[in-house]
Amino acid sequence: MPAPYVKLYVGDVIRTRKAHPCGGDVWVIERLGADVGIRCRTCGRFVLMDRIKLERRIRAFLQRGNELPPPEPTVEAPPAPAARRREQPAPPPRPRRRIVKRARA
Ligand SMILES: [Zn+2]
Repeated sequence: MPAPYVKLYVGDVIRTRKAHPCGGDVWVIERLGADVGIRCRTCGRFVLMDRIKLERRIRAFLQRGNELPPPEPTVEAPPAPAARRREQPAPPPRPRRRIVKRARA
């Protein structure tokens, strides 16, 4: 089972499982991306960490940041019916191709 995706927001205040060398374990998320920038609340140091790594280290959210509503799914408008479009016959169904595994030479 894949791990649930953790939503992170700029401004989130998190507590991590592992404390910073300074002793603090409370961080504020300041940057999001492939790497997440977090700032130690205790000493003020900024650390970039792999998102995956960070997600595993989060123990608790103390405060949520700018939580934005999820973007509305883009609904594709149905194509306008073309006036007097030529009817194309449907292509014949494709024959199912068998995938034959070949032994490696
Ligand atoms: Zn620190």
